[in-house]
Amino acid sequence: MASDFESLETRIIHAGEPDPFAGAVVLPIFQSSTYLTFKADSYHDQGYIRLNNTPNHEALHAKIASLEGTEDALVAGSGMAAISTALLTVLKSGDHFLAINCLYGGTHALVTKDLPDFGIESTFFDAGRPETWEGLLRKNTRAIYVESLTNPLLQVPDLPAVIEFAQKHDLVTLIDSTFTSPVNFRPAELGFDLVLHSATKYYNGHDDIVAGVVAGKKALVERVKHRLNHLGGTLDPHACFLLHRGMKTMAVRVRAQNESSLTVAKGLEAHPKVTRVHHPGLESHPQHARARELFSGTGGMLSFELEGGVAAADKMLSRVRIPYVAPSLGGVESLITRPALTAHKSLTPEERKAFGIAEGLIRLSVGLEHPDEILADLVRAIEG
Ligand SMILES: *Cc1c(COP(=O)(O)O)cnc(C)c1O
Repeated sequence: MASDFESLETRIIHAGEPDPFAGAVVLPIFQSSTYLTFKADSYHDQGYIRLNNTPNHEALHAKIASLEGTEDALVAGSGMAAISTALLTVLKSGDHFLAINCLYGGTHALVTKDLPDFGIESTFFDAGRPETWEGLLRKNTRAIYVESLTNPLLQVPDLPAVIEFAQKHDLVTLIDSTFTSPVNFRPAELGFDLVLHSATKYYNGHDDIVAGVVAGKKALVERVKHRLNHLGGTLDPHACFLLHRGMKTMAVRVRAQNESSLTVAKGLEAHPKVTRVHHPGLESHPQHARARELFSGTGGMLSFELEGGVAAADKMLSRVRIPYVAPSLGGVESLITRPALTAHKSLTPEERKAFGIAEGLIRLSVGLEHPDEILADLVRAIEG
């Protein structure tokens, strides 16, 4: 969607805003389930809360499209509603798609347990080995699905190679860009067809709602919207309001988190009891150069391993005072977890090992507390 404003910072505040209602600077919550029908010429144009077309939805759609640099965008009731609906739009019974092998846990379960019931098959691919991808194609392969930064090891897939491969083989490209947020990366600029987010994370940034985002070309987003309207994964207007409010600080939040998480990662890397730190902003990270090339910031997430493995990790988690020991990420509060117990619990220890996820690996989502104080708290908990 075209926007008159040049910078991301200004678009976050002003893009998509309708004329002030009754002079209010902030768009109010339109707590109305239904709207006068005289303008509707199709089912999907009727003003109705489930059809994702109240003024609260419309403003978000325009603002998000402006941030992602896409023709159109759509909000959904959760990240998983956005992901499942997008996949069920571009794929049908009898189709096959390729998915990156280290998926977010919920998506992994959807792809391996639910989609096969709908006749949709998939094969996992190793993003680090493009030479192996062609061998995985089938006659009915229609799409390729990736994540912009993998969880919890923060690897950066060869995204330009994914686009080139998809163009060559006529595949629809989908990317879950939750970990990067549009502040650090706008995948549509690289050529991705559908950009997906759990807006529960950086988009909203305050750990108080669940929401999803789909962005892309108008015709494709329209198809996803129609499917979402039927599946019912709408975002409630009150949650739209909170997302709208949360989003307005996304640029400053994410930039602060980019910086703070790197400070914390460097501090941990220098500590003798920390054996490994995964953060794409560190020079020791295997795809550091690619992260610098593709992203304008390396994000607020990091993971690390301690000497002493699981026992040392659990001891540390029992001693931290600043980060909350809880799953999820991207909010103003720092959150810390052991992925083997949370996001990657459904994998067997052997599967985790194959992905390089140590049992004692600790994942940290850096919030907006002072970075020196976060680091000092972690070091105190490690040394305890
Ligand atoms: C949280 C998350 C999701 C799922 O989003 P919900 O809003 O919880 O439905 C999908 N992908 C990634 C990368 C996530 O972190």
